[in-house]
Amino acid sequence: MGPTSIAVLGGGLTGLSAAFYLTRRFPTARIAVYNSEARFGGWVRSDRVRVSYTNHHNGKLENADVVLEAGPRTLRPNARSVLELIHLLNLSSTLLTVPKTSDAAKNRFLYIPEFGELCRLPSAPLDFLTWSGPSRQNIRRLLLSSVAREPFKRRNRRLGLDDESVDDFMTRRFGSEWSRIFASSLVHGIYAADARRLSLRSAFPSLWEAEERGNGSVVSGILRRSPPLTSDEEPASSYELGNLADTMRDVSVYTLREGISTLTNALVRYLREHPNVYMYGGVRITGLRINPRSKHFELITTAMETAFPTHVVSTLPLFRLHGVLTPAISLPHLTANTYTSVTVVNLVFPRPPPSTAPLHPEGFGYLVPRPTDGYFNDNNRLGILGCVFDSSSTATQDSSDAVVKMTVMLGGPYASRSLPQINVSDLLSELSTHLGRTLPEPVLVKVHHNQHCIPLYSVGHLQRMEELRHVLASEPWAGRMEVIGAGVGGVSVGDCIEAGRNAGRFWS
Ligand SMILES: Cc1cc2nc3c(=O)[nH]c(=O)nc-3n(C[C@H](O)[C@H](O)[C@H](O)COP(=O)(O)OP(=O)(O)OC[C@H]3O[C@@H](n4cnc5c(N)ncnc54)[C@H](O)[C@@H]3O)c2cc1C
Repeated sequence: MGPTSIAVLGGGLTGLSAAFYLTRRFPTARIAVYNSEARFGGWVRSDRVRVSYTNHHNGKLENADVVLEAGPRTLRPNARSVLELIHLLNLSSTLLTVPKTSDAAKNRFLYIPEFGELCRLPSAPLDFLTWSGPSRQNIRRLLLSSVAREPFKRRNRRLGLDDESVDDFMTRRFGSEWSRIFASSLVHGIYAADARRLSLRSAFPSLWEAEERGNGSVVSGILRRSPPLTSDEEPASSYELGNLADTMRDVSVYTLREGISTLTNALVRYLREHPNVYMYGGVRITGLRINPRSKHFELITTAMETAFPTHVVSTLPLFRLHGVLTPAISLPHLTANTYTSVTVVNLVFPRPPPSTAPLHPEGFGYLVPRPTDGYFNDNNRLGILGCVFDSSSTATQDSSDAVVKMTVMLGGPYASRSLPQINVSDLLSELSTHLGRTLPEPVLVKVHHNQHCIPLYSVGHLQRMEELRHVLASEPWAGRMEVIGAGVGGVSVGDCIEAGRNAGRFWS
């Protein structure tokens, strides 16, 4: 029987997207979205805030409105699911794009403490010819020698190996120094995690496939043409994009005028206006069981009588879902992964007069690799993972260019027990060292401690999720409950919306 009453557990990006697509797939079903926080959106949180600064032309105090993000800030145009949602929700006019030719797209940096300065990464192969900067020899040696040698290295994936950590994979193909510097930085930037613990096949499946395609060489595999779509991939034509495919042709990254929350706020508005949808903000799920006789779901919440949905989509972090299931119907692998905690610090500075050096080079921002002797030493005592130069890419969100905004990410693998307390002057002094100039007093500092916000897919995650799906397809679940969200099938905004888009696909 098709669903007549669907409960969506969790009102973050995945839950809201799932509810949106479920209203289109099952227009007559009753859909209830339960979210423990009163505010919907989960980790997506954008705020427009007012800052006051001294205008260096006339010495007067002036105001500016700036958009700050505590969670995701920029999106990549290759995720069609996000573009489709933007199109369907009529948000195209709020898009702010960063062209591939801009400095914000081309200039990405690493801060490698041993080199003591920001090192720009080459953005294209020919970049090596014109590449400048004091550390270029060091980076060139590291980058080029390992990458150039890799295709000539013999195939070295152990027979029968079906997953390994990102660090093991990169070390196997490119060497341990390369892996420590480049792979750990990349993983800090996306997962805020330790590359030695993250599953390669879950986080970067295309690299695993490239190694296969290249007969053991990742570089050869990348240089070969991509294979045709696999059977479970959607053809591009199945997405309703309007003219967004054209808009995004030469775009590196993009955001929305009022930040990424524009998307979640529009979803909430759409769902609230839909007659069959019930939005329960500030209502926590405390129990989920299946009646052994009727096989109906019984959903226990903090605010209401028990609900009896025919179908359930859980988008809760997996450890939270584990906490609400009664022992009789516990599901496998929900506590296999840990979740990383990250402190996000938004900083707004007065822009220095044009006659003085800028606060940072034009570019996307920089990442800091894992210290040579691991995370528990004094080398990176604040645990800085990286810093985004927001004003380079998203300044058009703000009412004035007289201020400069940056966002620093700290914690992750440095904060296995607790997130660091932020001492602003220590932070500014550390950033000044990275940027090679003394930063002025900020006009605004906003600290967000995001506890357990990003799942760390440990090795074997794909296999475990396959087993979870298998259990959900059998009795007593009988395919009537789906478990999706960042904890399952990818952490990016695109992955979460894609998962929501597919919710209930096999219910009929
Ligand atoms: C700091 C940070 C920066 C990021 N940057 C980017 C980026 O730049 N680009 C990108 O693509 N991705 C980025 N991401 C990843 C992406 O934002 C997240 O993976 C995504 O928002 C997760 O959405 P979700 O709905 O799956 O989970 P969540 O956002 O965790 O939503 C789950 C919801 O469930 C609710 N909930 C929990 N327990 C219960 C319960 N018992 N009952 C009812 N409700 C409950 C919570 O209140 C929450 O609203 C970032 C993430 C973070 C944390």
